[in-house]
Amino acid sequence: MTPSFLAALRAALPASALLIETEALRPYECDGLSAYRQVPLAVCLPETIEQVQAVLHACRVHGVPVVARGAGTGLSGGALPLADGVVLSLARFNRILAIDADNRLARVQPGVRNLAISEAVAPYGLYYAPDPSSQIACSIGGNVAENSGGVHCLK
Ligand SMILES: Cc1cc2nc3c(=O)[nH]c(=O)nc-3n(C[C@H](O)[C@H](O)[C@H](O)COP(=O)(O)OP(=O)(O)OC[C@H]3O[C@@H](n4cnc5c(N)ncnc54)[C@H](O)[C@@H]3O)c2cc1C
Repeated sequence: MTPSFLAALRAALPASALLIETEALRPYECDGLSAYRQVPLAVCLPETIEQVQAVLHACRVHGVPVVARGAGTGLSGGALPLADGVVLSLARFNRILAIDADNRLARVQPGVRNLAISEAVAPYGLYYAPDPSSQIACSIGGNVAENSGGVHCLK
């Protein structure tokens, strides 16, 4: 980690949203495919779009690769960090923004858990059909990236 890149990350994020100590990075060293592990340079946990933009700008300027991460339940190593890279966790983008029951439409942030959508629309007699068995933990961003689903997709 170069001092100038670290300074750029510190300018982009509050201290609570930037992990750089090895012990703090360790939980992010792998996803569900735990045969492969790599501690990244840093983990960023932004909470706003502006913070995401600032992190990505800093990474681009300094030529640092970025790996996005939802809940880290993937089984294909997609969220496996790079040794010289940053993990961009979208876990704090966990709000359901709008539910339009008449049109069967929900607008959600990418870190929302799959099951949280079914829980939120249950009062309307609805559920979110793609149901990976990791649905209690996995995020919609990860679901989209991995084309995830379960038995209700087949139905
Ligand atoms: C016990 C268990 C059961 C499972 N059952 C199923 C199942 O039934 N069906 C199934 O399909 N899968 C299943 N999986 C696999 C896994 O849960 C899914 O692939 C899930 O969609 C991953 O979501 P995640 O939020 O954990 O993503 P992560 O593992 O964090 O990331 C997965 C990929 O998505 C990318 N990504 C994540 N968020 C974003 C974002 N916001 N923007 C851009 N890219 C992003 C990452 O870079 C990575 O490439 C299971 C896994 C476990 C551990």
